[in-house]
Amino acid sequence: MSSIFADAIKNLDLAAKYADVDEEELERLRHTKATLEVGIPLRRDNGSLEIFKGYRVQHDSTRGPTKGGIRYHPQVCVDEVKALAFWMTFKCAVVGLPYGGAKGGIIVDPKSLSRMELERLSRGFMGQMADFIGPDTDIPAPDVYTNARIMGWMMDEYSKIKRQYTPAVITGKPLPLGGSAGREDATGRGVYYSIKELTAKKAWDPKTLTVALQGFGNVAQHAAALLQRDGYRIVALSDSQGGIYRPEGLDIPSIVKAKNETRRVKAIYCEGSVCEVVDAKTISNEELLELDVDILIPAALENVITADNAPRIRAKTIAEGANGPISFDADQILHERGTLVIPDILANAGGVTVSYFEWVQNKAGYYWQAEEVHQRLQTIIAREFDHVYEIMQHHQCSMRTAAYVHGINRLSSAYRAQGTHRYYASLDE
Ligand code: GLU
Repeated sequence: MSSIFADAIKNLDLAAKYADVDEEELERLRHTKATLEVGIPLRRDNGSLEIFKGYRVQHDSTRGPTKGGIRYHPQVCVDEVKALAFWMTFKCAVVGLPYGGAKGGIIVDPKSLSRMELERLSRGFMGQMADFIGPDTDIPAPDVYTNARIMGWMMDEYSKIKRQYTPAVITGKPLPLGGSAGREDATGRGVYYSIKELTAKKAWDPKTLTVALQGFGNVAQHAAALLQRDGYRIVALSDSQGGIYRPEGLDIPSIVKAKNETRRVKAIYCEGSVCEVVDAKTISNEELLELDVDILIPAALENVITADNAPRIRAKTIAEGANGPISFDADQILHERGTLVIPDILANAGGVTVSYFEWVQNKAGYYWQAEEVHQRLQTIIAREFDHVYEIMQHHQCSMRTAAYVHGINRLSSAYRAQGTHRYYASLDE
């Protein structure tokens, strides 16, 4: 069986030749630090008892407490959570946050639970994790199919267990429970800022660019709305049920409204409260990925572009809204074919960056305005995009390899400050 984690760490060897790194530092990065596996008993509304399996994996904490979301999905497995934790270590290093990487998940289809079951399960998971995480050790956040409300329940549960109000234990909380302005749209906004950076570097005119998004959850909805506002033409999007394609363009705010009301993506256009259905072609998720568009944003799950469909991908630019949507082999194929991929560990780092702002605000007890959050986020994404782009041009490598080089350099300098073989064998002073 193929391992997502084994696939993810292949990027280390690819990047190592351009990075300032020793074998022992790479070896540390090939392993996760700790894994917690729990069984969470859930009393269902009908009185029966069911046990759900959950994980929390910490990958590396050299640069600070570990950080990363919690997902609720039927396909969660420990190998996937390890890969996601590894990507978090790199994401935090690439954008320079003082964090290591972690991730968590429960094997569950949250849509099959009532609201009260969801709350009991979330509180139950926190009960099992409470001694494994903490505001200065490991800080969770939302991910696939988890949201601010769930973070609020978890923070409340942790605070009760520790008998101390502890907002900094988890980020992505609702505003009244210590959340940050600008956290809700932060991941999508980060995707948007990174596309804007590329557009500026290439001197493209947004009005001439078409965009397709796979997935229509938190990340895609916000990225699409911001891109449309700047004049990019959003021609296709999809959710887990399927997608819509309209070469003349789709109106994102109208579609978000319909999605919230009906839970489905529909090609509609609204003026005020009057909405009408517009002509659009129904397409599958697979067809969406292969559309002839300028920019493709996979913003759902990992491994949607593999060696099988990579040769058929026509977009010349891909911005990874999801974590790990392109398999390692597919990535090599795309690079050879000249596709520019803005990698997940840079493109979708906006979420964890604003999580960091939230944590800082919780610790300070002083809260910022949305404009300040946006401004600081844009500064970080633009700065790190620039670094990565420069490394890519210098080594003529893929942007993903360049991002790994950037991350590895930050991580290895932290390892070295602690002492590596070179120090102990008196090869360094
Ligand atoms: N789940 C998000 C990610 O994959 C956010 C993590 C966080 O805010 O800690 O980056």
